[in-house]
Amino acid sequence: MDSKIIDGKKISLDIKNEVKEEIEKINKAGGHVRLAVILVGNDSASHVYVRNKKKACEYTGIISDSYELPEETTEDELLSLVDRLNNDESVNGILVQLPLPSHINEDHILMAIDPKKDVDGFHPVNVGSLSIGRPGMVSCTPAGIIELLKRSGVKMDGKKACVIGRSNIVGKPMAMLLLRENCTVTVAHSHTKDLKSVTKQADILIAAVGRPKFITSDYVKEGAVVIDVGMDRDSNGKLCGDVDLADVYDHVEKITPVPGGVGPMTIAMLMRNCLQAYKDKG
Ligand code: NAP
Repeated sequence: MDSKIIDGKKISLDIKNEVKEEIEKINKAGGHVRLAVILVGNDSASHVYVRNKKKACEYTGIISDSYELPEETTEDELLSLVDRLNNDESVNGILVQLPLPSHINEDHILMAIDPKKDVDGFHPVNVGSLSIGRPGMVSCTPAGIIELLKRSGVKMDGKKACVIGRSNIVGKPMAMLLLRENCTVTVAHSHTKDLKSVTKQADILIAAVGRPKFITSDYVKEGAVVIDVGMDRDSNGKLCGDVDLADVYDHVEKITPVPGGVGPMTIAMLMRNCLQAYKDKG
């Protein structure tokens, strides 16, 4: 692959192999790492995501228990399943696939997960730990982006980073992680005035906007590293990112493609969080 392209597939495989190696040792010593995956309803994209997560579990040696519940499952029924899994010593991680059907309050469910088993890093205790620099579970996509940058030799210390997007699962934790790496961080969003002049300052530009090919070369500083979080569809329904790769390519030092960039890292980091949950249990 050409040297400008950050190969998320390869880096994610390296991480999964590292996890697999550690899990083999745990298994030899009689231990097991176990993830409970809860899926409610019939959302077809969610079924694909869950299938991919289970495949990664199989690859790394994590035991995955599936709880596939019907659309009409009540909030109380789901809360009692989460409670049972919280109290099950053999379960290390609990993942509730989002979105949930509209009659279930996602916040109520995510808040009910034991923060030590919250392998998605969405619980307020984990979000708070990240912002005050304490150890905890970190949201998989932004944690994966830090790994991509580090393993591609991108120096972050003292660099200007701009994150476009301020969602709880990507933009905000991304900004906190970049700050932890000593970047000077700007967070842009839909109310940002003159977005191009803001993004053009950035040595590291992270696009988490959710708009196909939104970032063109006039948003990008010459020689910047560009990370494309977007998983969008172009006018032909084809998967694409938030960045117009062909347009910005000549201006960047490095860039992640879509697919094959950030996407595979999210699942690899989920595997790593499951392993961490097991280790933290002591
Ligand atoms: P989101 O919750 O919709 O957030 C989008 C953010 O972009 C918001 O903060 C919004 O600003 C901002 N924004 C929207 N239009 C903008 C504009 N014209 N100028 C500047 N900012 C603008 O999305 P998300 O969940 O963070 O996801 C972002 C993208 O990443 C999506 O394509 C999603 O599919 C993808 N994603 C990929 C992975 C992966 O594993 N690769 C994981 C998660 C998400 P406001 O806050 O002002 O509305």
